[in-house]
Amino acid sequence: MHKFYDNHLQEDRTEELLYPAYAKRAMVEAVPKYRLPQKGMPPEVAAQIIRDELMLEGNPRLNLATFVTTWMEKEARELIAETFDKNLIDKDEYPKTAEIEKRCVRMIARLFHGSDNEKPVGTSTVGSSEAIMLAGLAMKWNWKKRQKNSGRSFDKPNLVMGTNVQVVWEKFCRYFEVEPRFIPVVAGSYVTNPEKVVSYLDDNTIGVVAILGTTYSGEFEPIEQIHDAIKDFCFTQGIKIPLHIDAASGGFVAPFIHPELKWDFQLPLVESINVSGHKYGLVYPGVGWAIWRTESSLPEELIFKVNYLGGELPTFSLNFSRPGSQVIAQYYNFLRLGKEGYIQILKSMQSISLHLAEKIESLRIFEMISRGKDIPVICFKLKTEEPFSLFDLSHRLREKGWQVPAYFMPPEAQNIAVMRIVIREGFSRDMADVLFHDIKTAVEELRTQTRSRQPKKSLRFIH
Ligand SMILES: *Cc1c(COP(=O)(O)O)cnc(C)c1O
Repeated sequence: MHKFYDNHLQEDRTEELLYPAYAKRAMVEAVPKYRLPQKGMPPEVAAQIIRDELMLEGNPRLNLATFVTTWMEKEARELIAETFDKNLIDKDEYPKTAEIEKRCVRMIARLFHGSDNEKPVGTSTVGSSEAIMLAGLAMKWNWKKRQKNSGRSFDKPNLVMGTNVQVVWEKFCRYFEVEPRFIPVVAGSYVTNPEKVVSYLDDNTIGVVAILGTTYSGEFEPIEQIHDAIKDFCFTQGIKIPLHIDAASGGFVAPFIHPELKWDFQLPLVESINVSGHKYGLVYPGVGWAIWRTESSLPEELIFKVNYLGGELPTFSLNFSRPGSQVIAQYYNFLRLGKEGYIQILKSMQSISLHLAEKIESLRIFEMISRGKDIPVICFKLKTEEPFSLFDLSHRLREKGWQVPAYFMPPEAQNIAVMRIVIREGFSRDMADVLFHDIKTAVEELRTQTRSRQPKKSLRFIH
């Protein structure tokens, strides 16, 4: 969080200033950091000052912590630059951009086995987070309607999900006042156990969330089994509970390299799906998609029609204005790659993951939680007693420029520390070998340095 007041207090005493390196040649005065400068400056000087500051950031290509795209082709970058100025919401002014968004929605709905008879609907969003807020709201409104129609109370909605959900689900519950019902994951199994789901359901359950590629380990949850458990429960209870699939990371992976897996609209209770275009959809941030099985999955009350921009626009979004460029870039990838292109890229990422996972495993000190078979994400924990933690290892790798996060698993496996490597396009096999070399060296150094330090410490204690 940026604390304005901290800066403000400081500024009252001394003005904080930027002293740009080369820009100084062109400038007489320093630039205030936290106050709008009185006078402007030439464009090349402003750009240089900013570039100089940004130079000190991490290299996005070496950032193995994020799922978000850090590499796109030159043609895609050009197209993005050419279309930044199109406001996606202004469908009357930019009907072609609107048409492209519509085409993407249909392509994705078909990819997820939406049936033309059921008329799937959907929208682009800033990312999966916005898509999840919208899907969550639709579940809440549909539940409310069901309760009202059957004369039941509608003041205590709950949503059932694993503790391994991404933080956005907790946000949704807090922002929109829904009770989160968390099914804990346990040590050794970091996905939702289908047998446990049923005991969390009741009349007030607006829906169940299952994850295609969890944020913590990259594993697919057993979606078909979760689905079947809910189906049996609904049948015996005579109620309807929809399943939402959080396919933020897996939605552009499973259809290409796990086509046999049933996780999408092929399962009758799956009512809505979100996917991040800026993850394995291979687009720069931010674009996501929310898709519903059929028009009636989307409550009319949530769709607003506005006419400020000419024409009448139905909108269902949290944000109004947004650049059209990210949707155009998604469409570029669809045309440029086709199914075959996505298959080829994902297979290559999968094979790099498996290769790197095998090497990491060969060090014999890690237990692999995922090797990148589901989505190209490697996750592992220490299995041997070592004089260092994964957090130490993460720091060491950071010194070499790699960002590889270490973190704790969610409740009730919160004592287990893991490390995660997200393989993305732009991370080559050669880079994987260099990373492995750096991991191996870091482990060796941490072992010897911590050992040689320890006896001295204990000696000092003895004397
Ligand atoms: C990344 C992620 C999200 C959030 O998606 P954004 O596109 O970053 O908003 C939600 N759920 C899961 C499982 C994710 O991996």
